[in-house]
Amino acid sequence: MNRVVIDKDRCKACEMCVSVCNKELIEISDELNAKGYHPVELHDPEQCTACGLCALVCPEGGIAVYKAKKAG
Ligand code: SF4
Ligand code: SF4
Repeated sequence: MNRVVIDKDRCKACEMCVSVCNKELIEISDELNAKGYHPVELHDPEQCTACGLCALVCPEGGIAVYKAKKAG
């Protein structure tokens, strides 16, 4: 499965990643991070196509996307 790793303590809740994900998989969470922002979280990770857009637009470098290797 593709993997999106969010460094929650880097997130400033700018929502750029939220707006670029055409699968609408990223949303603002209820928790507070070390900077006092509500960091984003990923839901339905099995839907992620690993397009990488969320990582590309994050101004804080807070997202890493790993594409699953094909079996075999
Ligand atoms: S890699 Fe693409 S599909 Fe996956 S969460 Fe980021 S923007 Fe959405
Ligand atoms: S783009 Fe980066 S800083 Fe902005 S909400 Fe997403 S993870 Fe947080």
